[in-house]
Amino acid sequence: MTTSTAEIAERIRQGDRRALARAITLVESRRADDRAASDALLEDLARSRREALRIGLSGTPGVGKSTFIEAFGLMLTGQGLRVAVLAVDPSSTRTGGSILGDKTRMERLSRDPNAFIRPSPSQTHLGGVARRTRDAVALCEAAGFDVVLIETVGVGQSETIVAEMSDLFVLLIAPAGGDELQGVKRGIMETADLILVNKADGDLKAAATRTAADYSGALRLLRRRDGDAPGFPKVLTVSALENRGLAEAWAAMQTLADFRRETGDWADRRARQATRWFEDEVRQGLLARLRDDSSSDTAMTELGRAVSRGDRSPSSAAAEVLRRLKDT
Ligand code: GDP
Repeated sequence: MTTSTAEIAERIRQGDRRALARAITLVESRRADDRAASDALLEDLARSRREALRIGLSGTPGVGKSTFIEAFGLMLTGQGLRVAVLAVDPSSTRTGGSILGDKTRMERLSRDPNAFIRPSPSQTHLGGVARRTRDAVALCEAAGFDVVLIETVGVGQSETIVAEMSDLFVLLIAPAGGDELQGVKRGIMETADLILVNKADGDLKAAATRTAADYSGALRLLRRRDGDAPGFPKVLTVSALENRGLAEAWAAMQTLADFRRETGDWADRRARQATRWFEDEVRQGLLARLRDDSSSDTAMTELGRAVSRGDRSPSSAAAEVLRRLKDT
Protein backbone atom coordinates (compact mmCIF):
# COMPACT_ATOMS: atom_id res chain seq x y z
CA MET A 1 0.00 0.00 0.00
CA THR A 2 1.43 3.35 -1.02
CA THR A 3 -0.80 5.56 1.13
CA SER A 4 0.72 6.27 4.52
CA THR A 5 -0.91 5.30 7.80
CA ALA A 6 -1.29 8.98 8.71
CA GLU A 7 -3.14 9.68 5.45
CA ILE A 8 -5.53 6.76 5.90
CA ALA A 9 -6.12 7.80 9.50
CA GLU A 10 -6.92 11.33 8.37
CA ARG A 11 -9.40 10.09 5.75
CA ILE A 12 -11.12 7.92 8.34
CA ARG A 13 -11.33 10.85 10.75
CA GLN A 14 -13.01 12.81 7.97
CA GLY A 15 -15.61 10.06 7.71
CA ASP A 16 -14.51 8.66 4.33
CA ARG A 17 -16.45 5.37 4.09
CA ARG A 18 -14.15 3.83 1.48
CA ALA A 19 -11.11 4.43 3.66
CA LEU A 20 -13.05 2.94 6.59
CA ALA A 21 -13.97 -0.16 4.58
CA ARG A 22 -10.35 -0.64 3.52
CA ALA A 23 -9.13 -0.17 7.08
CA ILE A 24 -11.56 -2.86 8.30
CA THR A 25 -10.24 -5.22 5.64
CA LEU A 26 -6.76 -4.44 6.92
CA VAL A 27 -7.58 -5.25 10.56
CA GLU A 28 -9.26 -8.49 9.45
CA SER A 29 -6.15 -9.63 7.57
CA ARG A 30 -3.95 -12.25 9.16
CA ARG A 31 -0.82 -11.36 7.16
CA ALA A 32 2.03 -10.23 9.40
CA ASP A 33 2.76 -7.00 7.45
CA ASP A 34 -0.94 -6.11 7.45
CA ARG A 35 -1.05 -6.69 11.22
CA ALA A 36 1.79 -4.24 11.70
CA ALA A 37 0.06 -1.64 9.49
CA SER A 38 -3.30 -2.11 11.22
CA ASP A 39 -1.73 -1.81 14.67
CA ALA A 40 -0.13 1.49 13.63
CA LEU A 41 -3.44 2.73 12.25
CA LEU A 42 -5.43 1.74 15.37
CA GLU A 43 -2.82 3.41 17.56
CA ASP A 44 -3.03 6.63 15.54
CA LEU A 45 -6.84 6.65 15.62
CA ALA A 46 -7.09 5.77 19.33
CA ARG A 47 -5.97 9.34 20.01
CA SER A 48 -9.11 10.79 18.44
CA ARG A 49 -11.14 9.60 21.50
CA ARG A 50 -14.44 9.84 19.70
CA GLU A 51 -17.26 7.80 21.20
CA ALA A 52 -20.34 6.33 19.57
CA LEU A 53 -23.27 4.72 21.31
CA ARG A 54 -22.53 1.02 20.83
CA ILE A 55 -25.71 -1.01 20.71
CA GLY A 56 -25.55 -4.82 20.71
CA LEU A 57 -28.54 -6.46 19.07
CA SER A 58 -29.36 -10.14 19.12
CA GLY A 59 -32.20 -12.31 17.89
CA THR A 60 -32.75 -15.66 16.24
CA PRO A 61 -32.95 -15.87 12.43
CA GLY A 62 -36.35 -14.76 11.16
CA VAL A 63 -37.18 -12.55 14.16
CA GLY A 64 -36.75 -9.45 11.99
CA LYS A 65 -33.24 -8.16 12.72
CA SER A 66 -32.56 -6.91 9.18
CA THR A 67 -35.98 -5.33 8.89
CA PHE A 68 -35.57 -3.70 12.30
CA ILE A 69 -32.04 -2.42 11.67
CA GLU A 70 -33.04 -0.98 8.32
CA ALA A 71 -36.09 0.83 9.72
CA PHE A 72 -34.32 1.90 12.93
CA GLY A 73 -31.18 2.95 11.05
CA LEU A 74 -33.16 5.03 8.55
CA MET A 75 -35.02 6.70 11.42
CA LEU A 76 -31.68 7.68 13.00
CA THR A 77 -30.07 8.88 9.76
CA GLY A 78 -33.29 10.86 9.19
CA GLN A 79 -32.47 12.68 12.43
CA GLY A 80 -29.03 13.52 11.05
CA LEU A 81 -27.18 10.78 12.93
CA ARG A 82 -24.52 8.60 11.31
CA VAL A 83 -25.06 4.87 11.81
CA ALA A 84 -22.66 1.94 11.36
CA VAL A 85 -23.87 -1.67 11.36
CA LEU A 86 -21.41 -4.49 12.07
CA ALA A 87 -22.18 -8.19 12.41
CA VAL A 88 -20.80 -11.04 14.50
CA ASP A 89 -21.94 -14.23 12.87
CA PRO A 90 -20.55 -17.54 14.12
CA SER A 91 -22.10 -19.41 11.18
CA SER A 92 -19.72 -17.67 8.80
CA THR A 93 -16.79 -19.18 10.73
CA ARG A 94 -18.14 -22.71 10.57
CA THR A 95 -19.52 -23.08 7.10
CA GLY A 96 -18.25 -20.10 5.15
CA GLY A 97 -21.87 -19.13 4.53
CA SER A 98 -23.03 -16.23 6.61
CA ILE A 99 -26.56 -15.69 7.89
CA LEU A 100 -25.87 -12.01 8.42
CA GLY A 101 -23.71 -11.40 5.35
CA ASP A 102 -26.35 -11.47 2.65
CA LYS A 103 -25.74 -8.51 0.34
CA THR A 104 -29.42 -7.95 -0.35
CA ARG A 105 -30.16 -7.22 3.31
CA MET A 106 -30.90 -3.65 4.32
CA GLU A 107 -30.77 -2.35 0.80
CA ARG A 108 -32.14 1.11 1.51
CA LEU A 109 -29.95 1.67 4.54
CA SER A 110 -26.86 0.53 2.62
CA ARG A 111 -27.51 3.26 0.03
CA ASP A 112 -27.84 5.95 2.70
CA PRO A 113 -24.73 8.18 2.73
CA ASN A 114 -24.98 8.45 6.52
CA ALA A 115 -24.90 4.69 7.03
CA PHE A 116 -22.15 2.10 6.82
CA ILE A 117 -22.86 -1.65 6.78
CA ARG A 118 -20.26 -4.36 7.15
CA PRO A 119 -20.89 -8.13 7.27
CA SER A 120 -19.20 -10.42 9.77
CA PRO A 121 -15.49 -11.14 9.28
CA SER A 122 -14.98 -14.78 8.34
CA GLN A 123 -12.40 -16.28 10.65
CA THR A 124 -11.87 -19.77 11.94
CA HIS A 125 -12.61 -18.97 15.59
CA LEU A 126 -15.38 -16.94 17.15
CA GLY A 127 -12.61 -15.39 19.28
CA GLY A 128 -10.99 -14.11 16.08
CA VAL A 129 -14.29 -12.68 14.86
CA ALA A 130 -14.74 -10.93 18.21
CA ARG A 131 -11.26 -9.38 18.15
CA ARG A 132 -11.61 -8.06 14.62
CA THR A 133 -15.11 -6.73 15.31
CA ARG A 134 -13.83 -4.81 18.34
CA ASP A 135 -11.23 -3.20 16.08
CA ALA A 136 -13.93 -2.41 13.51
CA VAL A 137 -16.03 -0.74 16.24
CA ALA A 138 -13.02 1.41 17.16
CA LEU A 139 -12.53 2.38 13.50
CA CYS A 140 -16.21 3.34 13.15
CA GLU A 141 -15.95 5.50 16.27
CA ALA A 142 -12.87 7.23 14.91
CA ALA A 143 -14.80 7.84 11.68
CA GLY A 144 -17.31 9.83 13.70
CA PHE A 145 -20.32 7.51 13.66
CA ASP A 146 -22.86 8.40 16.32
CA VAL A 147 -24.33 4.93 16.66
CA VAL A 148 -22.65 1.58 16.08
CA LEU A 149 -25.07 -1.34 15.94
CA ILE A 150 -23.44 -4.72 16.47
CA GLU A 151 -25.75 -7.46 15.31
CA THR A 152 -25.58 -11.17 16.12
CA VAL A 153 -27.66 -14.32 15.97
CA GLY A 154 -28.11 -15.92 19.36
CA VAL A 155 -25.76 -18.83 18.72
CA GLY A 156 -23.30 -20.14 21.32
CA GLN A 157 -21.09 -17.51 22.86
CA SER A 158 -21.78 -14.82 20.27
CA GLU A 159 -24.33 -12.96 22.41
CA THR A 160 -21.96 -12.74 25.35
CA ILE A 161 -19.17 -11.56 23.08
CA VAL A 162 -21.33 -8.83 21.56
CA ALA A 163 -22.64 -7.74 24.98
CA GLU A 164 -18.97 -7.41 26.03
CA MET A 165 -18.33 -4.78 23.35
CA SER A 166 -21.61 -2.86 23.71
CA ASP A 167 -22.85 -0.02 25.90
CA LEU A 168 -26.41 -1.32 25.67
CA PHE A 169 -27.71 -4.74 24.78
CA VAL A 170 -31.02 -5.22 22.97
CA LEU A 171 -32.76 -8.54 22.43
CA LEU A 172 -35.27 -8.85 19.63
CA ILE A 173 -37.90 -11.57 20.05
CA ALA A 174 -41.02 -12.66 18.18
CA PRO A 175 -44.56 -12.94 19.52
CA ALA A 176 -45.04 -16.43 20.92
CA GLY A 177 -47.28 -18.78 22.78
CA GLY A 178 -46.89 -18.78 26.58
CA ASP A 179 -44.48 -21.70 26.98
CA GLU A 180 -41.85 -20.33 24.59
CA LEU A 181 -40.50 -18.12 27.34
CA GLN A 182 -38.61 -21.20 28.46
CA GLY A 183 -36.70 -21.16 25.19
CA VAL A 184 -34.85 -17.91 25.91
CA LYS A 185 -31.60 -18.56 27.72
CA ARG A 186 -31.60 -17.20 31.23
CA GLY A 187 -28.16 -15.68 30.73
CA ILE A 188 -29.34 -13.52 27.88
CA MET A 189 -32.39 -12.37 29.83
CA GLU A 190 -29.97 -11.15 32.48
CA THR A 191 -27.77 -9.39 29.93
CA ALA A 192 -30.49 -7.63 27.96
CA ASP A 193 -31.22 -3.99 28.81
CA LEU A 194 -34.12 -3.80 26.43
CA ILE A 195 -36.28 -6.58 25.04
CA LEU A 196 -38.22 -5.67 21.90
CA VAL A 197 -41.10 -7.89 20.88
CA ASN A 198 -41.14 -7.37 17.11
CA LYS A 199 -43.99 -8.02 14.66
CA ALA A 200 -46.54 -6.29 16.90
CA ASP A 201 -48.85 -5.73 13.93
CA GLY A 202 -51.86 -7.32 12.22
CA ASP A 203 -52.80 -10.77 13.48
CA LEU A 204 -49.71 -10.95 15.67
CA LYS A 205 -50.41 -7.79 17.65
CA ALA A 206 -52.35 -9.41 20.49
CA ALA A 207 -49.78 -12.19 20.85
CA ALA A 208 -46.98 -9.59 20.91
CA THR A 209 -48.67 -7.67 23.73
CA ARG A 210 -49.12 -10.91 25.70
CA THR A 211 -45.50 -11.92 25.09
CA ALA A 212 -44.31 -8.50 26.28
CA ALA A 213 -46.34 -8.88 29.49
CA ASP A 214 -44.92 -12.39 30.05
CA TYR A 215 -41.36 -11.14 29.67
CA SER A 216 -41.94 -8.15 31.92
CA GLY A 217 -43.20 -10.56 34.56
CA ALA A 218 -40.23 -12.89 34.11
CA LEU A 219 -37.73 -10.00 34.29
CA ARG A 220 -39.18 -8.82 37.58
CA LEU A 221 -38.31 -12.20 39.07
CA LEU A 222 -34.67 -11.99 38.03
CA ARG A 223 -32.18 -10.34 40.29
CA ARG A 224 -30.86 -7.25 38.59
CA ARG A 225 -27.64 -5.32 38.71
CA ASP A 226 -27.84 -2.82 41.52
CA GLY A 227 -28.00 0.82 40.64
CA ASP A 228 -29.24 0.59 37.07
CA ALA A 229 -31.81 3.01 35.69
CA PRO A 230 -35.33 2.69 37.13
CA GLY A 231 -37.65 0.65 34.90
CA PHE A 232 -34.82 -1.27 33.21
CA PRO A 233 -34.54 -3.86 31.81
CA LYS A 234 -37.57 -2.79 29.81
CA VAL A 235 -39.84 -4.67 27.44
CA LEU A 236 -41.49 -2.86 24.51
CA THR A 237 -43.45 -3.96 21.47
CA VAL A 238 -42.37 -2.78 18.01
CA SER A 239 -43.25 -3.35 14.39
CA ALA A 240 -40.19 -3.00 12.19
CA LEU A 241 -42.37 -3.60 9.15
CA GLU A 242 -44.80 -0.78 9.98
CA ASN A 243 -42.23 1.50 11.61
CA ARG A 244 -44.02 1.46 14.93
CA GLY A 245 -42.50 1.72 18.39
CA LEU A 246 -39.07 2.56 16.97
CA ALA A 247 -39.00 6.10 18.34
CA GLU A 248 -40.01 4.76 21.77
CA ALA A 249 -37.26 2.12 21.59
CA TRP A 250 -34.70 4.82 20.73
CA ALA A 251 -35.96 7.04 23.57
CA ALA A 252 -35.55 4.13 26.01
CA MET A 253 -31.99 3.50 24.78
CA GLN A 254 -31.11 7.17 25.22
CA THR A 255 -32.64 7.30 28.69
CA LEU A 256 -30.54 4.35 29.78
CA ALA A 257 -27.38 5.66 28.12
CA ASP A 258 -27.83 9.11 29.75
CA PHE A 259 -28.45 7.53 33.15
CA ARG A 260 -25.30 5.43 32.88
CA ARG A 261 -23.25 8.41 31.71
CA GLU A 262 -24.40 10.44 34.71
CA THR A 263 -23.71 7.72 37.27
CA GLY A 264 -20.28 6.92 35.84
CA ASP A 265 -21.37 3.39 35.04
CA TRP A 266 -20.79 4.04 31.33
CA ALA A 267 -17.12 4.94 31.81
CA ASP A 268 -16.59 2.07 34.30
CA ARG A 269 -18.09 -0.38 31.88
CA ARG A 270 -15.95 0.86 28.99
CA ALA A 271 -12.83 0.73 31.15
CA ARG A 272 -13.62 -2.86 32.21
CA GLN A 273 -14.29 -3.86 28.61
CA ALA A 274 -11.06 -2.27 27.39
CA THR A 275 -9.04 -4.05 30.09
CA ARG A 276 -10.60 -7.41 29.24
CA TRP A 277 -9.99 -6.74 25.55
CA PHE A 278 -6.33 -5.98 26.23
CA GLU A 279 -5.92 -9.15 28.33
CA ASP A 280 -7.63 -11.20 25.66
CA GLU A 281 -5.24 -9.84 23.02
CA VAL A 282 -2.25 -10.72 25.21
CA ARG A 283 -3.63 -14.24 25.83
CA GLN A 284 -4.32 -14.81 22.13
CA GLY A 285 -0.93 -13.37 21.19
CA LEU A 286 0.93 -15.66 23.60
CA LEU A 287 -0.97 -18.66 22.30
CA ALA A 288 -0.21 -17.66 18.71
CA ARG A 289 3.50 -17.28 19.52
CA LEU A 290 3.57 -20.77 20.99
CA ARG A 291 1.66 -22.19 18.06
CA ASP A 292 3.96 -20.45 15.55
CA ASP A 293 7.02 -22.11 17.04
CA SER A 294 6.93 -25.67 15.73
CA SER A 295 8.66 -27.35 18.68
CA SER A 296 6.37 -25.54 21.17
CA ASP A 297 3.38 -26.42 19.03
CA THR A 298 4.35 -30.10 19.06
CA ALA A 299 4.99 -30.00 22.81
CA MET A 300 1.57 -28.41 23.39
CA THR A 301 -0.18 -31.02 21.30
CA GLU A 302 1.64 -33.87 23.11
CA LEU A 303 1.09 -32.38 26.56
CA GLY A 304 -2.56 -31.81 25.67
CA ARG A 305 -2.90 -35.50 24.89
CA ALA A 306 -1.12 -36.49 28.11
CA VAL A 307 -3.54 -34.26 30.04
CA SER A 308 -6.56 -35.78 28.33
CA ARG A 309 -5.30 -39.31 29.14
CA GLY A 310 -4.89 -38.26 32.77
CA ASP A 311 -1.10 -38.84 32.65
CA ARG A 312 -0.29 -35.20 33.42
CA SER A 313 -2.00 -32.59 35.56
CA PRO A 314 -3.33 -29.60 33.54
CA SER A 315 -1.51 -27.08 35.73
CA SER A 316 1.94 -28.69 35.60
CA ALA A 317 1.60 -29.30 31.84
CA ALA A 318 0.63 -25.63 31.33
CA ALA A 319 3.60 -24.50 33.44
CA GLU A 320 5.89 -26.60 31.24
CA VAL A 321 4.51 -24.90 28.11
CA LEU A 322 4.80 -21.42 29.65
CA ARG A 323 8.47 -21.98 30.51
CA ARG A 324 9.07 -22.10 26.75
CA LEU A 325 7.94 -18.48 26.37
CA LYS A 326 11.18 -17.27 27.90
CA ASP A 327 13.02 -18.77 24.94
CA THR A 328 10.73 -17.60 22.11
P1 GDP B 1 -33.69 -11.73 10.47
O1 GDP B 1 -33.39 -13.11 9.98
O2 GDP B 1 -33.76 -11.68 11.95
O3 GDP B 1 -32.76 -10.69 9.90
O4 GDP B 1 -35.19 -11.39 9.96
P2 GDP B 1 -35.69 -10.54 8.69
O5 GDP B 1 -35.56 -9.09 8.94
O6 GDP B 1 -35.07 -11.11 7.48
O7 GDP B 1 -37.26 -10.87 8.73
C1 GDP B 1 -37.76 -12.18 8.66
C2 GDP B 1 -39.20 -12.12 8.17
O8 GDP B 1 -40.00 -11.47 9.16
C3 GDP B 1 -39.37 -11.36 6.88
O9 GDP B 1 -40.33 -12.02 6.09
C4 GDP B 1 -39.87 -10.00 7.33
O10 GDP B 1 -40.68 -9.35 6.37
C5 GDP B 1 -40.70 -10.38 8.56
N1 GDP B 1 -40.78 -9.26 9.51
C6 GDP B 1 -39.75 -8.53 10.00
N2 GDP B 1 -40.21 -7.56 10.82
C7 GDP B 1 -41.55 -7.69 10.85
C8 GDP B 1 -42.61 -6.97 11.52
O11 GDP B 1 -42.41 -6.00 12.27
N3 GDP B 1 -43.88 -7.43 11.32
C9 GDP B 1 -44.15 -8.50 10.53
N4 GDP B 1 -45.42 -8.85 10.40
N5 GDP B 1 -43.20 -9.17 9.87
C10 GDP B 1 -41.92 -8.78 10.03
